[in-house]
Amino acid sequence: MSTVTAPAFLPFARPALDEATIRGVADVLESGWITSGPKVAEFEAELSKLFAARPVRAFANGTATMETALRVAGIGPGDEVITTSITWVATANVIVAVGATPVFADIDPTTRNIDLQAVEDAITPRTRALMPVYLAGLPVDMDRLYAIARRHGLRVIEDAAQAIGSRWNEKLIGSFGDLVSFSFQANKNITCAEGGCLVLSSHFEARRAEQLRLQGVVRSGLDGMDVVMPGGKSNLTDINAAIGLGQLRRLGEVTRRRAELAKAYFEVARQMQLEDLGIVLPPPTRGQGAITNWHMFQVMLPANAQRAAVMQLMRDAGVGTGVHYPALHLFSYYRSLGWREGMLPQAERAGRSLLTLPLFPAMSTGDVERACAALAAACRQVAR
Ligand SMILES: *Cc1c(COP(=O)(O)O)cnc(C)c1O
Repeated sequence: MSTVTAPAFLPFARPALDEATIRGVADVLESGWITSGPKVAEFEAELSKLFAARPVRAFANGTATMETALRVAGIGPGDEVITTSITWVATANVIVAVGATPVFADIDPTTRNIDLQAVEDAITPRTRALMPVYLAGLPVDMDRLYAIARRHGLRVIEDAAQAIGSRWNEKLIGSFGDLVSFSFQANKNITCAEGGCLVLSSHFEARRAEQLRLQGVVRSGLDGMDVVMPGGKSNLTDINAAIGLGQLRRLGEVTRRRAELAKAYFEVARQMQLEDLGIVLPPPTRGQGAITNWHMFQVMLPANAQRAAVMQLMRDAGVGTGVHYPALHLFSYYRSLGWREGMLPQAERAGRSLLTLPLFPAMSTGDVERACAALAAACRQVAR
């Protein structure tokens, strides 16, 4: 008698935490100081080293980081911020949170990122900032982005939540530019469990970000305290910073492994002729210009394929998938601001058909084959 064990379920993402990181967290817990303290300072210093010595401030999450960036830039009621509809809804929610108006520009169907021509077309006298998102880690054309911003006198708040380790012409995203926001949420390439950081251009704005992060408090001497603005509460804890420090040490290794797995996806996709099934692969990494960190490997399903049915069949085959993201301008709240079907056709198509396949450092190339085989079988079955 033989027993056949099915391979374990393959999730679409899984964090890779090593023993040293777990010990680092235990050290914080035993230290007597568990909220913001020396580990946060160390994490910020390491991030600043990574980002060409620019000022960096850590936050409790990437959402708070972006909201702070908008406030630092002085964006509020009456201002328009141009962004994409294919993103985690936090991107638009923070624009609303500061009292400004989100304006969605359509995406480029190849990169799935905001279309910079559509950005230019959406600029009005009220536009104050551009908020691009680097979906799956792929940067937009950064030269063109900043040329548009300069020409129109706009701030740029980069939602680089997914783009740590990504590059533009060899330069790391975050090492240049205006305000650059990263997230260290659990599914991101490196994580603090929850966390984020903001890279800034000036020490003056970094001070503002610090004040916004903790109740607007300014301290002086041993007992002096003033409040200069009604700030919030979005500081990172030393527990989370210890996780981030452990993860940051492995950024290079993790980024390389993701690139290898993405390469394996392209090879297996070619062998299994996925494109003949109407499946569109992501744009490949090229040697110059935008270099993705492969935060996600996303395929576009054929327009007539029921995505939920494909996902169910793949799940039944032991393969997890994700949806990143439904077009957010069609959510009830954003409809209430006047957004409708037909306004952003490329984003709407992507929002219905993008599917995120498993990609995380501990995966094997065998897992890539499993994922592609499950995808092919599911697409064949739903097409029947
Ligand atoms: C994760 C993410 C965020 C939000 O970050 P949190 O840390 O979850 O608050 C914002 N934008 C994008 C594109 C993201 O992927």
